[in-house]
Amino acid sequence: MPIYEYERVEGDCKICGGRFELRRPVDREPLTHCPLCRQEVRKVISLASTPRILKPVSISDAKKAGFTVLERRDRGTYEKL
Ligand SMILES: [Zn+2]
Repeated sequence: MPIYEYERVEGDCKICGGRFELRRPVDREPLTHCPLCRQEVRKVISLASTPRILKPVSISDAKKAGFTVLERRDRGTYEKL
């Protein structure tokens, strides 16, 4: 069973932390609400979900894979590296 990552649609959740992972069968309906706090959640599309990447992705790895790497400088502003 793949592990899906979910996050709150709006705001934070005091119970699940606003983000959680859940192992679900592929043919199961997508989860729309947090099983803990019943707030609305959405699935996070994450390459790290299946298979689980144990090693954190480095900036150079990300660049090699064609990602634009952004680093947070100030509140809400990003600088292209
Ligand atoms: Zn929650």
